[in-house]
Amino acid sequence: MKPTQPDSHGHFGDYGGMFVPETLMEPLNELTRVYKEVRKDPEFKKELQYYLREYVGRPTPLYFAERLTRKLGTAKIYLKREDLCHTGAHKINNSMGQILLAKRMGKKRIIAETGAGQHGVATATVCAMFGLECVVYMGKVDMERQSLNVFRMESLGATVVPVTVGQQTLKEAVNEAMRDWVTNIRSTHYILGSALGAHPYPMMVRDFQSVIGREARKQILKAEGRLPTALIACVGGGSNSIGLFHPFIKDEGVRMIGVEAGGLGIAGGMHAARFAQDKIGILQGTKTYVLQDNDGQIALTHSISAGLDYAAVGPEHSLLRDLGRSEYSYVTDVEAVDGFDKLSQWEGILPALESSHAIAWIIKNAAEFTSDDLIIINVSGRGDKDVMQLAEWKAKQAAE
Ligand SMILES: *Cc1c(COP(=O)(O)O)cnc(C)c1O
Repeated sequence: MKPTQPDSHGHFGDYGGMFVPETLMEPLNELTRVYKEVRKDPEFKKELQYYLREYVGRPTPLYFAERLTRKLGTAKIYLKREDLCHTGAHKINNSMGQILLAKRMGKKRIIAETGAGQHGVATATVCAMFGLECVVYMGKVDMERQSLNVFRMESLGATVVPVTVGQQTLKEAVNEAMRDWVTNIRSTHYILGSALGAHPYPMMVRDFQSVIGREARKQILKAEGRLPTALIACVGGGSNSIGLFHPFIKDEGVRMIGVEAGGLGIAGGMHAARFAQDKIGILQGTKTYVLQDNDGQIALTHSISAGLDYAAVGPEHSLLRDLGRSEYSYVTDVEAVDGFDKLSQWEGILPALESSHAIAWIIKNAAEFTSDDLIIINVSGRGDKDVMQLAEWKAKQAAE
């Protein structure tokens, strides 16, 4: 099938769109207009490619995971090493694209939201590099959980603003960032961190992250002379996964598997597996699958991994899922930690807890494949940021 594209108002089939207050329509329309221009501008492409290569460290390797492959004894497994990007995750691909856009628009001030802190760190980094003012909104609870990343952002010169309403996590941080944007539209660009929110963000973030899939496609063809059987990536808002998937959508034979956070299991409701529930709603500007309680209120979510802990999923995934082009599954916290341990010990790579979900999926489902199969797993980030939390989690498990 043809790669999915939104219509002029950002609809991916029934999903997506621009569900925002009137005051935000103007900046979103301006952003859409400017983005459309630069998207086709060879100078912009050249500039972005330059910084991705010289500063971010692209292309990232597509690494043949020989021991993981041997241990599981089925498909041949390759890892796309986004953990080797500067700042340790794929997030900077998007922050770099958007800050170049902001410079074109003459903006002097950048705002962002962050949950676990990876997007905040990536954005603070590119702001430091280009000398732009940076304000990052972060829930107070997340600031306590991720104090190391708060320190990193502040060291980079950013101001981190604690958000103390509601659950004091990512959802509230996005609301505060949008409020700031409305008030400071002339000076400010909002760098949103995933393939989420109102148009043009889901399309724009996807485009900036598609460098992952474009590279991986070339690299696997070079290494193996054929396309992979399956792609596997974790799904929070959906940016690292759609970035890997999108350049393969036309290749019908390639399975695309997204792995959500199963948390403590689906039955108890303590998870962030949006596609395990089947409810559609509108959250923070976009129509998509949204976790809700029986009254239609946004459900509380849970995952060991802060980057997957969000009630909505990017709208393009909702469409791809309905079309049957991509499939979604989940793994639990316990399984994800097992994935973390195994990749660390078998390959010497500490994956982020988010990425550990993708690793755990293949460990759990290896029997679906044979030695003729070729698999690419996206290692979206490195796990160094998670080791304190993991140490505490393991101590608690041992005590129970
Ligand atoms: C933020 C993050 C994710 C989840 O976000 P997506 O938009 O779904 O990619 C996954 N992995 C890492 C390492 C992250 O920092």
